[in-house]
Amino acid sequence: MEYFSTRDENHRVTVSGAIAGGLAPDGGLYVPSQLPELSLQEIKELCAMDYRGRASRIMAKFMPEYTAAEIDGFTSAAYGANFDDPAVAPLRFTDGDTAFLELWHGPTCAFKDMALQILPHLLTASLKKCGEQRRVCILVATSGDTGKAALEGFADVPGTKILVFFPNDGVSDVQKLQMVTQTGANVCVSAVYGNFDDAQSGVKKIFGDKAYAAELSERGYFLSSANSINWGRLLPQIVYYVSAYCDYVNSGRINLGDSVDYAVPTGNFGDILAGWYAKKMGLPAGRLICCSNSNNVLTDFLHTGVYDRNREFHNTISPSMDILVSSNLERLLYSLCRSDRQTAGYMKELSETGRYEVCGEIKASLAADFAAGCCTDEETKTAIGGMFRERGYLMDTHTAVAYKVLCDYRSMLNRPVPTVVVSTASPFKFCDSVLSALGEETGAPGTELIGRLAAVTGMKAPAPLAGLSGRAVRFTGCTDRADMLKVVDDFLK
Ligand SMILES: *Cc1c(COP(=O)(O)O)cnc(C)c1O
Repeated sequence: MEYFSTRDENHRVTVSGAIAGGLAPDGGLYVPSQLPELSLQEIKELCAMDYRGRASRIMAKFMPEYTAAEIDGFTSAAYGANFDDPAVAPLRFTDGDTAFLELWHGPTCAFKDMALQILPHLLTASLKKCGEQRRVCILVATSGDTGKAALEGFADVPGTKILVFFPNDGVSDVQKLQMVTQTGANVCVSAVYGNFDDAQSGVKKIFGDKAYAAELSERGYFLSSANSINWGRLLPQIVYYVSAYCDYVNSGRINLGDSVDYAVPTGNFGDILAGWYAKKMGLPAGRLICCSNSNNVLTDFLHTGVYDRNREFHNTISPSMDILVSSNLERLLYSLCRSDRQTAGYMKELSETGRYEVCGEIKASLAADFAAGCCTDEETKTAIGGMFRERGYLMDTHTAVAYKVLCDYRSMLNRPVPTVVVSTASPFKFCDSVLSALGEETGAPGTELIGRLAAVTGMKAPAPLAGLSGRAVRFTGCTDRADMLKVVDDFLK
């Protein structure tokens, strides 16, 4: 199996090359040349395994350069006692047809840990296989959760450095505090004036600067990405779609082979794309429901085939989904049209006009695999309050967007379909909004609210969040978008 760029099929690399490189040199994203198959017999075997075993088996299909023992080494290092639930990604049922896949039992309490706890292992092994002598500097633009998860994954990993930019407007108190208190000798964190798209386009510009890359190379460094454009981020995410299906079967509520829908709170389109890959491999997934907040560019795209980022940007209570350009959509477009020229054409239109319309063939494929919907902050809060009162289950704001959109979708269907709601963050990560959804007072710093939410709900706050208030702030800088390169340069002096 080879990997190539979505914008140039002739640019071919191994899986190690794809993971070590992050973004392809032409600006495209790496995709596998074909998708491996997953049979029902294999899913049956996976049902008997734990999360680590499932991860090893599924990831091995995409990593022909690696031995089973090497891959087992990565998955056991990544999915162990650093997760506070032995199931790693447990499935919780709130009724017979609705299960929440909790992806936030890792060290940063959000689903990004599922990939970022394993990425440093994949990346350092890939660099070795590629014969890379220079040190890697991971450069991240984050809408909140990626930054902390990447810092936590890479802190003090030999041969690596990591620099995270987060938007000054658009991360929660707790998210910010998690990042600026990060320990580790190889880490740096900086705020950027503006929103996530400002931070992300600034990082993309640095990645595209060939002269600067040459200069860094002389200093013994090169830049790589831990954003969800890296194949090493996407691959581990395929695992939990399959794992959730196995646990659904194991619960006795469905039979092997029955179809299950997935409702996914979506931002950069990485999470849901992993689900689509799992479906195309053979997982009996029905619809993938793409759930957005009022930044509903994807809802419109999946309904009309027109992607149009020329619209107002909203700061919402689900900030990790406040995105107008969903990078991973490029991989889906490529897979659907199987043409690097066509994909590059859409991306060129997007960068020049902010808009493109896909061909009829792509529209038909989208309609077959996806449903889409969006909801407002008010609706999100109502969903949180209702679920907690009626079922005693507490959702964070991102998960609640998915649940609300699922409810809307179900009210259009005649019969309920077994559905996995992908739960992407601990409710304690967004205490302010969750408390306000429960009708409680919120006027206090984020760290105080963690204790208040625990008191109100009778739930225990995850240890990494409960301990935040005592930690020292290490990073206080905020930069203009135009000066981001200087921050990188100072860090790599
Ligand atoms: C990143 C994130 C999302 C969105 O995931 P994408 O892969 O960007 O679509 C949703 N919820 C939370 C809590 C996140 O951190």
